[in-house]
Amino acid sequence: MTGTQISYYFLCQRKLWLFTHQIDMEQTSDTVAMGKFISESTYERQKHEIHIADDEDEIVIDFYDAKNKVIHEVKKSDKMEETHIWQVKFYIYVLEKKGIEGVTGEIDYPKLRQKINVTLKDDDRKKLEEIRKDITKILSMETPPSTINKPFCKQCSYYELCYV
Ligand code: SF4
Repeated sequence: MTGTQISYYFLCQRKLWLFTHQIDMEQTSDTVAMGKFISESTYERQKHEIHIADDEDEIVIDFYDAKNKVIHEVKKSDKMEETHIWQVKFYIYVLEKKGIEGVTGEIDYPKLRQKINVTLKDDDRKKLEEIRKDITKILSMETPPSTINKPFCKQCSYYELCYV
């Protein structure tokens, strides 16, 4: 799993399917496809950025304060969303898998002048495993899930593909 996949899982499962099957209209560099998992584990630090990949998960954390064990995420959005919290919980979960215990997260919303603290609890670990199973099931579908007809579809890069 990747942070982007978690994010799309909450946002739109059709988007998750399209993105992971490399139907990538966003031209983002974060193109990590299921089935293309990296078999070797890497752990590198570049300034405060960390990249971790194993045969299950891949994450890139923009800013990790190693001294205080805090993941910092900045969201430019003007809305707090559940998906942001789950992304950070997932990062904590992956660090934990690598033996880094006691990590917490902080999501900063500069536009809202607000911060959220994120921790990982036992229920969250279970939920992340359920999400993993769910994502695997969605991605194994031969065709993408249906469109969701939400107002934010108009801002989505797949809008034309979905509706035009
Ligand atoms: S346009 Fe809407 S239905 Fe289509 S992928 Fe984007 S969010 Fe999902």
